[in-house]
Order: sequence, then structure tokens, then C-alpha cells
Amino acid sequence: MPTIRALLLASFCLAFILLHDTADAADKPVFRAGAATSNITPPIGADSRVRTSRPPATHVHDELHARCLVLDDGEAKLALVVCDLRHMSAEVAAGGKEIIQRMTGIPPECVVISATHTHTSGGAKLEDRAGEPYYDYAAFLTRRIADGVLRAFNQLEPARIGWGVAEEPTQVFNRRWFLMAKRGPIYGAHDNIEQVDTNPGYTGLLRPAGPVDPQITFLSVQSTDGKPISLLASYGLHYVGGIQANTISADYFAMFAERIGELLGADRHQDPPFVGIMANGTSGDVNNLERYSDEELAKRGPQPKKRYQSYEKAREVANLCAEKVSAVHKSIKWHDHVKLSSLQRTLTFTRRYPTKAEVEWAEAVKAKKIKPMSTSRYSTYQTVLAYASPDIPPTMDVIVQTHRIGDLAVATMPFEVFAEIGLELKERSPIQPLMNISIANGAHGYLPTPEQHHLGGYETWIGVNKVQLDASVKMVDALIEMLGKLNDKPQ
Ligand SMILES: [Zn+2]
Repeated sequence: MPTIRALLLASFCLAFILLHDTADAADKPVFRAGAATSNITPPIGADSRVRTSRPPATHVHDELHARCLVLDDGEAKLALVVCDLRHMSAEVAAGGKEIIQRMTGIPPECVVISATHTHTSGGAKLEDRAGEPYYDYAAFLTRRIADGVLRAFNQLEPARIGWGVAEEPTQVFNRRWFLMAKRGPIYGAHDNIEQVDTNPGYTGLLRPAGPVDPQITFLSVQSTDGKPISLLASYGLHYVGGIQANTISADYFAMFAERIGELLGADRHQDPPFVGIMANGTSGDVNNLERYSDEELAKRGPQPKKRYQSYEKAREVANLCAEKVSAVHKSIKWHDHVKLSSLQRTLTFTRRYPTKAEVEWAEAVKAKKIKPMSTSRYSTYQTVLAYASPDIPPTMDVIVQTHRIGDLAVATMPFEVFAEIGLELKERSPIQPLMNISIANGAHGYLPTPEQHHLGGYETWIGVNKVQLDASVKMVDALIEMLGKLNDKPQ
């Protein structure tokens, strides 16, 4: 019966092939990605308490969003959220993560919730005004962030991933400067003579007190048939501004998100929609105001001064950044699968208290015994006295995270981090390239280096700086050690 034998043999072979194929497919984990946005715009007029530098909003130019990207390697998941907010409250981030874990199973150490630092938005503290039931923005925000991640999670689909590093050096300027002698002494928060001045005007400048980071590190995900799903970038630029007073806007971050979608060929009507995301890198001492030393100004000669309409500058910066990213994006390497791993640590820092001399100064000002020479808008004797209070807890816990996405690393920090700290992390990271995300999982003030503390200037003053003077050294060492651990894990 050769025919039956042949048939039997053929069916054995078929069964083997089928089994083998199934086993192969089961062995090979599928990489998936999903992205979504949640609208987090507060009600008009409701944010007077959180928009300390501006009057309450009477208009919304563009809606604020929590932009969410979820990655899944078949075993581990990672959720990356960037919110159009000035700050990220640690409580809101923790609350959001709790809901995310309940709904999706993604543990808190695999979730990053950060703020872009757009100055034309709120923070998270928008509670009832005294005696007036109003609006609990923190609760709304927490829920909307969790919803965004859940929606991204629901939309997970097989995907490819790639990453790259673009550069846009023309839009970042260190805002702390040594001044020419002709400018006279700089008086700071406590009438100490400081060595550097923050946002010192445009003439009489000697040299910047620190570097800038011109890199735009990005990661990109697309469906297996090439449809763009999301691109997340990070650039060390405080914000751009040029936005009308009393108006809510997500600044250049959202304009970048929109433009990069167009440049990558995302269809406005694709389903689900493409999600562009721009996170804040390390920009504590970096802004978009073009400042040059007197020497450099003389070399450059008179420059035409462009007058910008509202939003025009933000759009210009966003478009420039998107074009730089898009150019590098053309030649990135696509991976069908990468492994994800995450590490989180809580660092306990000593809270910064004013020195005895500072308290004496503040008490003397309060008692009108001395008139402060400082013309600072930012820091007053009240801040010093408030921070001298024994009611302030002596330590502060902050969350730092590192994530590995194939050969791309991510470090997150809950501060407005100085550019040189981000550069040091990039230099020392055992995994290259490194994407820095600041104002992540909390916001605990500026983070200068000990050397920058020594130079003084606004960002180093008590009130806006809350932790021990060497906190940056401890944080960088912790992050590098964590990146080392991720690097040692088998891929
Ligand atoms: Zn700021």
C-alpha cells in the first residue's frame, strides 16, 4: 500500500511542519506598541492659583494633553506619558500609576509620567478655593492620565521600533551668565554678591555659566506595514513662549508633536491616530532667548531683529526640531523586537534649610532693620523664614528611573535639571544613546550641581531649590549604577 504509506508520511510531515511552525511562533515574542492622548485642559479661569506668573486664563489657544505611549516586548511593558503641564505633582503621578496598574497590570516602576514644562498651563494643584467648592484638577488629571495609558494599552498592535539622535544647537541658550565688570555687582536673594545672573539682559555679558545640550534624542514606533504609530523625542529646552497673556497653550512641545506626524507621513485620519510627543530633557538653566557675550556680539555685527507674532516663535522652534528629527529618522535602524527592562529607586535627600546667616538676614528684613538690596522678583525674606520652619520635614523622597529599550536607555528625574547634569549622564551611560526626561514622576524644584550652587543665581536660591547641595552628584551616581545594572542584564 504505497499510496496509503505515502499519504501517512505526508500527513506526518504536515503535522510536524504545522507543530514546528506553531512552536516557532510561540518562541518568538511579538513586539507591540500603542499610543493615545487624553485632554487635560483645565477650565477657563480656574487656574489662577497655579499660574503664578500669569493672570487666570480667559482663553485656550490649544488644548493640553497627556500623550501616552505603551510598549510591550511580550513579557515586560513600558508606559511613557508626557503631560502639557508646567510641573508634575508626585501625588498625581503616584495616583495615576495606581490606577494604571489596576487596569493594565503595568507596575509603577515601568511607568514614566512627566511634564513638558509649558509655562502657559497649570500645575496639578487646583483645589477648592476656601469656602467655594470649585474643581479638583488633581483628581481629574490623575484619572485622565490613567485613561490615556489604558487607551494606548487597548490599542497595542504588532510594531517595529527604532531610535536616533538629532541635533538642534541654534535654539538652546544657557540663561546663567557671568557679567562684564561694567555691569557692577549682582545682588541675589539674600544680598550675597553672586557670581552669575539668570536672564541678565542682552548686553554686558562675559560668558555663560554652563553648557547646553543640543541633542534631540527620539524613539519611533510604526506598525509592521509601516504606518507611524508614535514618536517620542526629548530636547533640553525650558519652553519657548511668545503666547498671548491669559491664554492656555501647550507651547512648542505640542506643535512639534503635530509637525513630526506630518513629516513622517502620518495620515490625519488614520486609525488609531499618530501620537507625537516631546518631553523636556535637561533644561533647568536653558531657554530660547538668544544671548551672546559682548565679544560674540561685536563679531556678529548688527543683526536684523525679527518681530514675532504670538505663537510664531514656538511654531518656528517646533518645526526646526521636527525637521532635524525627520532627517535622522530617514536612516534609523528598525527592530522587529527589542527587550524592555526598567529599574526604579527612591532617593532620600536632606531637605535644604536656610543657613543661620540667611535666617538672621530674613529676620532683620522682616523687622525692617535692613532694606534688602536685592531687586529680585523671585525670592523674599518670607521664603527664607518659611524654609527655616521646623514643620518642614527634614528629608525628601524622590523617584528616579532608568529604562532600557533595546540599545536605547532612558533616565528620568523629578527636577528641573541643569543641562550639564544631563550631559554627564549621557557621557557616563553604559547604554548609548541615552534619553533624559526631567520633571518626571514628581517636580521638586531646580537641580543645579554643587559648583553651580557656589556660583549662585536664581536657580540656586532656597525656595526654588529644595534639596541638599550635592543632590545632583548622588542622583547621577545612582542613575549610572542603575543603567549599569540594566546593561548587565542579558538581552
Ligand atoms: Zn520654568
